[in-house]
Amino acid sequence: MNPESTNRKNLLGRITNQAQWDLLVIGGGATGLGVALEAISRGYKTLLVEQADFAKGTSSRSTKLVHGGVRYLAQGDVKLVREASIERGLLHRNAPHLVKDQTFIVPVYSFWSRLKYSIGLKLYDRIAGKLSLGHSVFISKEETIKKLPGIKTQGLKGGVLYYDGQFDDSRLAINLAQTIIEQGGVAINYVKVTGLHKNANGTINGASLIDTESGTLLNVNAKALVNATGVFVDDILQMDKPGSAKTICASQGVHVVLSKSFFPSEHALMIPQTSDGRVLFAVPWHNKVVVGTTDTPIKDVVLEPVALDKEIDFILDTAGAYLTKKPTRNDVLSVFAGLRPLAAPQGEQQQTKEISRSHKIIVSPSKLFTMLGGKWTTYRKMGEDMLDSIEKELQWQFTTSGTATMHIHGYSENTNWQHPFYYYGSDEAFLESQVKAAKSDWLSEELHIHPQQVVWAVHYEMARTVEDFLSRRTRALFLDAAESRRIAPDVANIMAIELGESETWKAAQLAAFNQVSEKYLL
Ligand SMILES: Cc1cc2nc3c(=O)[nH]c(=O)nc-3n(C[C@H](O)[C@H](O)[C@H](O)COP(=O)(O)OP(=O)(O)OC[C@H]3O[C@@H](n4cnc5c(N)ncnc54)[C@H](O)[C@@H]3O)c2cc1C
Repeated sequence: MNPESTNRKNLLGRITNQAQWDLLVIGGGATGLGVALEAISRGYKTLLVEQADFAKGTSSRSTKLVHGGVRYLAQGDVKLVREASIERGLLHRNAPHLVKDQTFIVPVYSFWSRLKYSIGLKLYDRIAGKLSLGHSVFISKEETIKKLPGIKTQGLKGGVLYYDGQFDDSRLAINLAQTIIEQGGVAINYVKVTGLHKNANGTINGASLIDTESGTLLNVNAKALVNATGVFVDDILQMDKPGSAKTICASQGVHVVLSKSFFPSEHALMIPQTSDGRVLFAVPWHNKVVVGTTDTPIKDVVLEPVALDKEIDFILDTAGAYLTKKPTRNDVLSVFAGLRPLAAPQGEQQQTKEISRSHKIIVSPSKLFTMLGGKWTTYRKMGEDMLDSIEKELQWQFTTSGTATMHIHGYSENTNWQHPFYYYGSDEAFLESQVKAAKSDWLSEELHIHPQQVVWAVHYEMARTVEDFLSRRTRALFLDAAESRRIAPDVANIMAIELGESETWKAAQLAAFNQVSEKYLL
């Protein structure tokens, strides 16, 4: 990738030089990136703006599964499972450097559980059809103990092993932003939509933006505007029509990250029914284990949600009931919370865990297009559905989607998942040559973070802050919050040099990172 194409000055220049965009997408999470990529694939002039960093919101805080959704099958939502299983297969094909096959094991402690999960998971395989990642099987007690060392053995009857996908959410978001740019669009972080423009008929035809780094105001014209702001969609709907009814209800999900010693397995553990009726996962990720999640209705939506004590205790207690080495708060390396943007239920009250995860498109009278709900796994299909809806509503000529076979930046086959830089995909070799040439020490041996990765993130991956680098270009903050705080001053030094920033900038960056990262520590 040419670093000029991701250079901020150049991207801002392209925004001001373009008199008219076909599509303006608000929000740089999974939804917005999916919509923008879809639009580009159909040949539209597309601009995506993100008020903070790409995936700063919910899209960096998922369980990291590319999955059909075993839980949705239990709820009888076969349509969603079928759609997600197909999308899982496509994402696996288009980003093989980030999506890997992951075996999951459901430990069973009774005959009925064995029967229920064996039949249920066979059905799960069948729904995926040709795009299934592998066939589920029942494994003996001995095999289960071998595959899940540390699992509670008392009463264990065996396990059901099945296949799903696992990924790195924020890395995928960055690679999608790069793909959008490579394909001729603009995707830019730290640019916020502050107002909507309408013509004399009340139809939206553009927006006011602010470059939040410099404070520069920009106006853009666009033939269609997409509200892909996740839990913030109601703020944009209010800009369109003050007093609009609420469309979203947010539900918080928390994960804790533990050392591998608590669950030293290549397989993931799936606990299908916790005491609150949810599913709990323990998934190996970047040499650690991610355990979660919860489902807590939340009133105030913020970009940096905070885990509640009761959520942390619930995860540790539930995981502890299945593991022989019980984790405590002192063992938590990092805790992170994310908000699900669920379509608010119409009519009778539902619990958030029962609300469907399928997506929904709303078209306002002003022709503002809003996406509600959805999943990372189905981000591509959500984009396709949105573009179909825009073409239909605005009576544009119908075009066909090109994303089902489009390779995402970094695409490379035969990924070596053991390599510390595997997640750079096709960029890995070039980055590695720079690392060798630099002859400097690791910033963190524990997390395999090298100074050259900071340089790379600034010039190729649009990293603008210390947090961008430590949270979403690498996953240091999510993997080990204390270690990320230790290396933050070195990261700030390197970034200041590469971005040509001052001592004041450095101090402000460190203060901001320390404030955010405190929330990830217990
Ligand atoms: C705990 C949890 C676990 C999950 N696990 C999985 C999983 O394992 N697999 C899976 O498939 N899905 C999972 N999901 C669902 C998935 O993560 C979400 O559906 C998805 O990330 C939502 O993306 P989004 O783009 O809609 O929202 P977001 O990622 O929140 O993006 C919206 C963006 O809009 C920006 N924005 C807001 N206002 C403005 C403005 N005025 N101008 C410009 N930008 C603005 C925000 O800054 C934000 O970055 C999980 C969700 C949660 C909460």
